[in-house]
Amino acid sequence: MSTLDDSIRDDFPILRRRIDGRPLVYLDNAATTQKPVAVLDAMRDYYETTNSNIGRGYYRLSFAATDAYEHSRGVVQRALNAEHADEIVFTPGTTAALNLVADTFGRSVVHEGDRVVVSGMEHNSNLLPWRRLCETTGAELVVVSGDATGRISPARLAAALDERVRLVALTHVSNVLGTVNPIRELVAESHRHGVPVVVDGAQAVPHWQVDLRDVGADFYVFSGHKVYGPMGIGVLYGRRELLSELEPYQVGGGTVKGVTHTAPVKYVPVPARLEAGTPNVAAAVGLAAALEYVEKLGWQNVQAHNDALVRTAVELLTELPAVQVLGDPAGDPAGIVSITMPGIHPYDVGGHLDKFGIAVRSGVQCANTFVDELGLVGTVRMSFAVYNTEAEMRQVRDALRTVEPGFW
Ligand code: PLP
Repeated sequence: MSTLDDSIRDDFPILRRRIDGRPLVYLDNAATTQKPVAVLDAMRDYYETTNSNIGRGYYRLSFAATDAYEHSRGVVQRALNAEHADEIVFTPGTTAALNLVADTFGRSVVHEGDRVVVSGMEHNSNLLPWRRLCETTGAELVVVSGDATGRISPARLAAALDERVRLVALTHVSNVLGTVNPIRELVAESHRHGVPVVVDGAQAVPHWQVDLRDVGADFYVFSGHKVYGPMGIGVLYGRRELLSELEPYQVGGGTVKGVTHTAPVKYVPVPARLEAGTPNVAAAVGLAAALEYVEKLGWQNVQAHNDALVRTAVELLTELPAVQVLGDPAGDPAGIVSITMPGIHPYDVGGHLDKFGIAVRSGVQCANTFVDELGLVGTVRMSFAVYNTEAEMRQVRDALRTVEPGFW
């Protein structure tokens, strides 16, 4: 059982907010989490005491800002057990990180006639960069469908790994059903075939302590805002041997050693080479504070808390004959439960819950192709965080009893 109690809610000022006089029940954490005071304070403190541009100024304030930024990189490295700090590249988010990998590493290894493999349950952010890469290079995108929950087995993946495959891109956890891929085994299977793997960890990092060395992926990405950090910051982890070979994604300030109008441009090593322009230093500081906040709570406690909520949600929702729980969210929980109510559009369900101050996500969850494959117009997704409670789940159940078909 979870050791986190309701007092944790005091760490999150937004939870004091009321919607039409009712307490906010925020269950859209897979879209973005709320931010604890520790994160808000760290960012405010950075702006109040340290703000200046990094790596460019020969004065103490700029040195301090650079230190704060690099310290944040170290916090990410340690939290995710990366071997080296220079394997951590800050990006604006998961989507930006995946586009970066597709446009640099992808372009260097994928050519006409090659293949890129993705799973059938990818978020558009881990589908479209690969689709575009294939369209522009003349390669073929191969979609491997999983079982009824979207889960890919190593055998299914192996069946797609012929000699033309140059790259595999997989999600760690589905943002639609919360299905967890056996990622270590999938990475190992790809590597057995000599194929590098990009993993979308956007929905995994918020729920347990991801150990990058254990996962073994060549690239692993996530967004800070889904793990209690601010928006505008994400992480691209890349294995040093691969990352250090990458050409700059964008060029400009911060990426060069020296420029003349005639000689070839000399670029600085990674990670700075891949972080052109002024980075979001305050957001990096906020992300580090978020990871430290979770560490203080204890990753295992966070996971146990969210797992317990998933099980309670499934139990309570299966009491309702009008509700179908999708996939097997309680089998290997990842903080996500999606439902449908046959005959009622997901927007009507979302709109109805909103009347009770309950925020859920309704629709295709940015995973159009997976939702199509499930034969649905959309889902209603509840996703949990450390401040959610079992009492909130009972409110959801009670509110769902009164949903009726509406506008959609
Ligand atoms: N991948 C997955 C699995 C996601 O759930 C999301 C966001 O919902 C993304 C990628 C995109 O993340 P961001 O919008 O932060 O770039």
